[in-house]
Amino acid sequence: MGKLLIVGTVAFDTIETPFGKTDKILGGAATYIGLSASQFGVDSGIISIVGGDFPQEYLTMLNNKNIDTSGIEIKKDGKTFFWSGKYHNDLNTRDTLITDLNVLADFKPVVPNKFVDCDFLMLGNLHPSVQMDVIKQIPKRPKLVVLDTMNFWMDNTLDELMEVIKKIDVITINDEEARQLSGEYSLVKAAENIHKMGPKYVVVKKGEHGALLFNNGNVFFAPALPLEEVFDPTGAGDTFAGGFIGYLASTHDISFENMKRAIIFGSNLASFCVEKFGTERMLNLSHEEVQKRLQQFKELTQFEIELN
Ligand code: AMP
Repeated sequence: MGKLLIVGTVAFDTIETPFGKTDKILGGAATYIGLSASQFGVDSGIISIVGGDFPQEYLTMLNNKNIDTSGIEIKKDGKTFFWSGKYHNDLNTRDTLITDLNVLADFKPVVPNKFVDCDFLMLGNLHPSVQMDVIKQIPKRPKLVVLDTMNFWMDNTLDELMEVIKKIDVITINDEEARQLSGEYSLVKAAENIHKMGPKYVVVKKGEHGALLFNNGNVFFAPALPLEEVFDPTGAGDTFAGGFIGYLASTHDISFENMKRAIIFGSNLASFCVEKFGTERMLNLSHEEVQKRLQQFKELTQFEIELN
């Protein structure tokens, strides 16, 4: 079982979807990644920062899921990162209403001693300079480094982002971001182009249309489960990434064949995340529910055909 280190936001969110609106609830990329990876019982830890307004009970909840929070700095006189978003009727697009960086504005990550020798490193969506700072604090290169990023960093900090991209193994981005980063419309060509920037593996997330895994000429596709109800897509991408790296860390196998399974686990967990507001669904997700839905994934994708 590999040791997994996650860097990313731990946040307060308010979310509005066509089905309702939340008060300030627990959110943040690292929170979703950690909760998702915790399904695999891996030894994981989060590096982040919160303010004095962050309830201890959330940290306790993460600890109860076997997630080490000693790398979450608590800045007593500061306020926790706050994000507010509103989804359009199709739930595929959203407007960011507020992003208050608060304590994140001058965050200097510190890797706890216990995780300096981590085998798996998940760089959640954050400023590339913070991601690079974490990479530099780990003397022995981890077995696998996965990066999640977004168009915002491509627009505003491209040079720094490119330096990070050079140093990682897997990048997870959505289809539009893959096109933006590569300048190619075809996702196949986009992946080829991104391979040249550094990552051997390119995961392209296509929301309700699943995800693609590219590895120098090899390609694998995992569908998203057609769900009766999608309530709130917030955190689906992070939950996907957490399932992907959590499974790889629990099996310690980073072959392409195992990455295919990891993609399925990622899609599977993301399908739960969207069923309720925020992290609610992930907090009480049982092993049995996950297994049952894996069976549905198998049935969705298996077919027999005679070739002649
Ligand atoms: P996702 O739906 O995968 O984009 O993830 C949503 C989570 O990302 C929310 O819980 C937010 O707190 C967090 N988030 C929103 N904007 C940012 C940002 N600019 N940097 C880092 N995390 C963010």
